[in-house]
Amino acid sequence: MTMEAGTARSAPSRAATPHTKFLSGALCLDFANTLSGRMDEAPVERIETHADLIAWAETGRVLAEGRAEILRAGGAGRRAEGSTILARAFALRAAIHCAFAAMARGRPPVQGAIDRLNPFVLEAARHRRLEPAGGGAAWRWHGPAETLDQVLWPIALSAADLLTASSPIRIKECPGPHCGWLFLDRSKNGSRRWCEMAVCGNRAKARRFKRRQNREQQEVGNG
Ligand SMILES: [Zn+2]
Repeated sequence: MTMEAGTARSAPSRAATPHTKFLSGALCLDFANTLSGRMDEAPVERIETHADLIAWAETGRVLAEGRAEILRAGGAGRRAEGSTILARAFALRAAIHCAFAAMARGRPPVQGAIDRLNPFVLEAARHRRLEPAGGGAAWRWHGPAETLDQVLWPIALSAADLLTASSPIRIKECPGPHCGWLFLDRSKNGSRRWCEMAVCGNRAKARRFKRRQNREQQEVGNG
């Protein structure tokens, strides 16, 4: 198979399932964000099956045209393998979250997170080749079209690219309740606070308004 081996997608910010969005600015962080409210008693999981994983990748245009169908059929026909890929996807996601949540909190990623990322990155790199393109060359993915774990390759390389970025990056963690999504703050003054202003930002605003109203009502009651 041959397809473009990039991690940049042309149409971000589309929901795969309700509340699953591609708005973090990096594929690996979007993937980490498929689990919301990690600190909650009941975190919200967006990827429960191998088919969910493929649907997420399809929506994020992680896979080449027509590839999702092949993988969906492969996952349905090879259930055990599909479950293994899903388990590997969760391991990759946990390592990504561990590394970048630390950075969002002002700490370097721990060695363990990097160690857990490395096998995924090596595997992805093994399937990438340079091919002539335009006036130069471009990375292309190589491997059988039905290889189920190809969905993990761009995610792993996105994490590697972000960790080795030559210019400084600002990773943030959304403080919204039941959120905790990670994202890249690319604003000039580092002012991006929420994963999405229209969701977490507005919720926070509504909560502040409610608290003020309650306080005012109490004051009227006491007065
Ligand atoms: Zn949020």
